[in-house]
Amino acid sequence: MGKARGFPISRGSVTDEKTSGVGRRDFLKVCTMAAAAVGLSASTGRAWAEAAAKGLKPSVIWLHFQECTGCTESLLRTSHPAVAELILDLISLDYHETLFAAAGHQAEDALKTAMEKGAGKYICVVEGGIPTKDGGIYCQIAGRTALDMLKEVADKAGAIIAIGSCASWGGIQAADPNPTGAKGAPQILEGKTVVSIPGCPPNPYNFLGAVLQLATFGTLPALDEKGRPKFPYGRTIHESCPRRAQFDAGHFAHQYGDDAHRNGACLFSLGCKGPYTHAPCATIDFGEVPGAWPIGIGHPCIGCTEAKLLWRVSAYQTIEPPPTLRPVLESSQAEAREAGTSGGLNRAVVGAVGVVGGALVTAGVMAARKGGGQEPPDPAPHGSSPTAD
Ligand code: SF4
Repeated sequence: MGKARGFPISRGSVTDEKTSGVGRRDFLKVCTMAAAAVGLSASTGRAWAEAAAKGLKPSVIWLHFQECTGCTESLLRTSHPAVAELILDLISLDYHETLFAAAGHQAEDALKTAMEKGAGKYICVVEGGIPTKDGGIYCQIAGRTALDMLKEVADKAGAIIAIGSCASWGGIQAADPNPTGAKGAPQILEGKTVVSIPGCPPNPYNFLGAVLQLATFGTLPALDEKGRPKFPYGRTIHESCPRRAQFDAGHFAHQYGDDAHRNGACLFSLGCKGPYTHAPCATIDFGEVPGAWPIGIGHPCIGCTEAKLLWRVSAYQTIEPPPTLRPVLESSQAEAREAGTSGGLNRAVVGAVGVVGGALVTAGVMAARKGGGQEPPDPAPHGSSPTAD
């Protein structure tokens, strides 16, 4: 685990008072779930709760750039228990343009004060992409470009977190042709450690877990090579998907609303990116609402935590299956041929399966059953038809 500079902890400002109406039981539950989200024990969650009860709150400066504010909204709109209320109880939010009552010079003064008082200790949270073309003029706050503002605030931060896919790699702004030259914070702040919490939006627990670990222990979660905390982003959605048994059995939906779709069949042939997407959506309820995520409501995963998928490959475009999963699809196709049906797979997928060599089959099935991450393909979808036959 990396060590963050100067933690903990600052006290003070807009969220100092313990105003939460949330009970101790819910408070402990949220801390425990946040600990689990970054792969730590329940006792760690209890330690966080105790630290928060003592008023030890990290100072957070939250920057908004090119984005829809969906990451902030998803933190604030969680349902039961009131995660948002708890988040605001656990951190000292010293600058946040969306939540600030202050505006204009007053807000700028608050930023300056927070940077001076918490120099070397505060957490810089970045939400949104950063335009770099033409000197970064396409996003300016108080006359300064997002580019300059990010560099200045990040330079004095104890830790930097990029929340959401826009801050992690540019998001929708960076989609072709990327007219503003948008990038994510890690690409701007080369040489600095940036904890990336991608997702559109990400699960609030992923963020909360990382912040609480920083606040309590002064350490960063273990990160993967893309800067994502390993625990929530270490496995693919496909590995824990509630429709996985349908995939393994070769039951695929091939039209929205068909019998297979309504009966919970696998969504791969409708364009599901779950086999390549590293995220805990299948294991941590979003907003505390069971089933409230794309696959839970019958929509394919769009790969929102993967830079090579989101805004690069159409949500409905079938992608080439990872080698480890091809044997399952190949066997489904063979069974379908025998039965004289399409097997639920569209032509693009069947074509890909057809090129798999026999030697791959046994090894591939074993690897698929064991799980493990899959690297997304380059952003060239397989086949030409975005819909099923
Ligand atoms: Fe779930 Fe998608 Fe994998 Fe099917 S392909 S099991 S819907 S993640």
